[in-house]
Amino acid sequence: MSYIANIPDAGDKKRLVIIGGGFAGLELAKKINKKHYQVVLIDKNNYYQFQPLFYQVATGGLEPSSISYPHRKGFQKEKNVHFRMCIAENVDAANKTVKTDIGEIKYDYLAISTGCGTNYFGNDKQLKETTYALKSVSESLLMRNRILLSFEQALSAETEEELKEILTFVIVGGGATGVELAGALADMRKSILPKDYPEIDFSKMEIHLVDASPRLLFAMSEDASAGAAETLTKRGVIIHQEVFVKSYEKPYVEVSSGDQLRSRNVFWVAGVKPNSLAGLDESAYNRGRLVVNEYNQVEGYKDIFSIGDTALLISESSPKGHPQVAQVALQMAKRLAKNLNNEAENKEWEKFVYSDRGSLATIGRNAAVADLGKFRFGGWFAWWLWLWVHILSIVGMRNRVSVFIDWVWNYLNYDVSLRLFIRPKYNKMYRESET
Ligand SMILES: Cc1cc2nc3c(=O)[nH]c(=O)nc-3n(C[C@H](O)[C@H](O)[C@H](O)COP(=O)(O)OP(=O)(O)OC[C@H]3O[C@@H](n4cnc5c(N)ncnc54)[C@H](O)[C@@H]3O)c2cc1C
Repeated sequence: MSYIANIPDAGDKKRLVIIGGGFAGLELAKKINKKHYQVVLIDKNNYYQFQPLFYQVATGGLEPSSISYPHRKGFQKEKNVHFRMCIAENVDAANKTVKTDIGEIKYDYLAISTGCGTNYFGNDKQLKETTYALKSVSESLLMRNRILLSFEQALSAETEEELKEILTFVIVGGGATGVELAGALADMRKSILPKDYPEIDFSKMEIHLVDASPRLLFAMSEDASAGAAETLTKRGVIIHQEVFVKSYEKPYVEVSSGDQLRSRNVFWVAGVKPNSLAGLDESAYNRGRLVVNEYNQVEGYKDIFSIGDTALLISESSPKGHPQVAQVALQMAKRLAKNLNNEAENKEWEKFVYSDRGSLATIGRNAAVADLGKFRFGGWFAWWLWLWVHILSIVGMRNRVSVFIDWVWNYLNYDVSLRLFIRPKYNKMYRESET
């Protein structure tokens, strides 16, 4: 049975439906001219999530609420923006309709910015159930609980073997998230955990970083990779380079080098998979991403756009598409907003051109690497720069202040303040609101 979602009529305006309120969708919703367009923003969560700092929530450095922002608060003063918390299921382009779990939503223009999920490289069945991912605030909290639980369990370990299994952390994926997570765990092991758990011998805690690519931070320069590997090694992280995980039969992690690691804590940050939306012509998809032209129009459709991680724009300057990073998402959204505003004012559209502002990755306290055009550097200054870039990118003034205070506190006290093991309580009411 199909039914129509309850959304006010757009009147004389065109309706722009945006699926996904992440970096790209939120920026588009902000920048589109509401004199010309009614905006319907839909997201499966009622808040925006700042993904680059998930690992800090997972390691107790930040509150989940500091890196999340409620969509309704963001658009309180915008009468022409209607937020709906729902899941988009597919697109019916012939009828210009999106099917969602709260009913059908008609559009004049549709922007798909649904981002990415975790890629288990075909081994979903086994790895999804047994490893911990880091693609949402709730997964960050789950990972935080797992980390904290390990040390509580370590206190009751009955054998050396069991203790080793509990105190061994295996991070799969040597991109920015894997490196950042490994660095944060190494910092915890050095200065925080021994104070909380004086009965545990932390020389027995092992942090393994397993990376299938030829070097860590493969998307960055060789200097950055070497800097990251050197700092992590000095901080006691065991790096397995050009090695991939073959299987994980708890507690045994089989890796391609033939080694077998024994761990209860496997953190999977190895790859991304586009959250593609079904319903479009086959030619619109390329390995799950939506093929777009320089105006971000999806192949074969004039009024359907894709921006951010889901969009695949192949051009001379980007033969493999653009990197799936926040800057691309933001810049695509800004260009699309400008073009749709131009459309309403009968002005020319402009092609999307990516301006690469460089990359930064932190490796822990006082250590980061930076590739900014010709400038490649690491150490304290890169770390300082990383902190400011992230503070300024967080949505919401309260969140920026809260992150700043937490970071200053953590830095001065060699501590993270948020080591609470909070479990959701599943009761009848909770389950009803879920369905
Ligand atoms: C752990 C982590 C660390 C990262 N660190 C960095 C970094 O340091 N620097 C950097 O530049 N980039 C980083 N990235 C990548 C960056 O976060 C992404 O490139 C960026 O979020 C892409 O923006 P987007 O708008 O395309 O997608 P997202 O920001 O992922 O937003 C997608 C939105 O769509 C919603 N959604 C998905 N499917 C549906 C559906 N069917 N129905 C309704 N809603 C849906 C989701 O809830 C989400 O809100 C990181 C990513 C992760 C996961």
